[in-house]
Amino acid sequence: MKSLRPTALSVAMIIAIDVSAHEVQVRVRTEVNIPDIPGYVTLKGDFHTHTVFSDGNVWPSVRSEEAWREGLDAIAITDHIEYQPHKNDLPTAHDRSYEIARPAGEELDVMVIKGSEITRTMPPGHLNAIFLTNSSLLEVPEWRDAVAAAHEQGAFIFWNHPGWSPQLKDGKVTWYPEHTELVENGMLQGIEVVNGRDYVPEAHRWALERNLTMLSNSDIHAPLNLDYHVHEGDHRPLTLIFARERTPSALKEALFARRTAVYSSDKLIGNEEFLGPIFENSIQISTKQITLKGNDRLYIQIRNSSDIDYKLEGNGDLPMMHFPWWLTLPAQKTVLLEVRRRDESAEGTHVLKVPYKVTNLLIAPEKPLPVNFAFDVTFTP
Ligand code: ZN
Repeated sequence: MKSLRPTALSVAMIIAIDVSAHEVQVRVRTEVNIPDIPGYVTLKGDFHTHTVFSDGNVWPSVRSEEAWREGLDAIAITDHIEYQPHKNDLPTAHDRSYEIARPAGEELDVMVIKGSEITRTMPPGHLNAIFLTNSSLLEVPEWRDAVAAAHEQGAFIFWNHPGWSPQLKDGKVTWYPEHTELVENGMLQGIEVVNGRDYVPEAHRWALERNLTMLSNSDIHAPLNLDYHVHEGDHRPLTLIFARERTPSALKEALFARRTAVYSSDKLIGNEEFLGPIFENSIQISTKQITLKGNDRLYIQIRNSSDIDYKLEGNGDLPMMHFPWWLTLPAQKTVLLEVRRRDESAEGTHVLKVPYKVTNLLIAPEKPLPVNFAFDVTFTP
């Protein structure tokens, strides 16, 4: 006889149908694996983004979720003050993009920083002011007044894309007296060494010479996935910030204190005091005690737990042991090195430093980071 009550099987089928009909698309964050350094957490930020409130093509809250998905800790929304091509569809409202993006960021634990892009002819060109309290006060005729209005709000101010071709002087990236004036008045603290996919060596050099904070920002206008193939290992340019803690005020303090580095494609750019510890904290070596007997070979495993492929090149001679001159330590992988005695007459115990330079970690234009692997090596007959 057929029961009118549902059987266990039919209940299970109904549940299965129900689950598939309401299957939730799980949203995924891909973390950026770059280690902390002693005393600081390494935060990942992008301080130059646009939305529909200036010439971007994205609603502000989407910027917050893109940042979350791509493993960022912080973004600044920096719509143009002087340029709103969508103003026939959206009224000019300099503070609205931040006001919309921020609660979306709070839900996802992404810090959203209020900013604006002061968009002027060269000099001084385009400047971003972040940590603003009132963007609308920057809409004034004179650029000096706009910068002063940002400075009065305690903003961190930096020069955007000094290598942007429409603003070059005779095709050259040029530092103007107006920039000196701003630096001397405490109204320019940073410079974009990387904007989008472009590295500007002049900006890198100026940052070193004039003690400016180095930044690396996307200046993104389109949806992130149109410009960066994030699912194929691509990433937007990021500023690494070495902060005392993961808070907006610690982030701001670190920016003013120039504790940043640039992460662009497979390159890190910054001072040796930051890049050195990042490299060291990325690398684990299986053994530092080596005993080489006669001509026997020995294996050493070197693991790189960061997202960066470290490209090493020999940086001086190592007479007693064979090590490869060129060596890539791929991201998130372990390499196996075969080492062997090189000097037949070597004997006893030595501290051997294997000197390399990391060619994709730059401490100045064209100057790679020097590193050493140190081993205690004992040679026996
Ligand atoms: Zn911009």
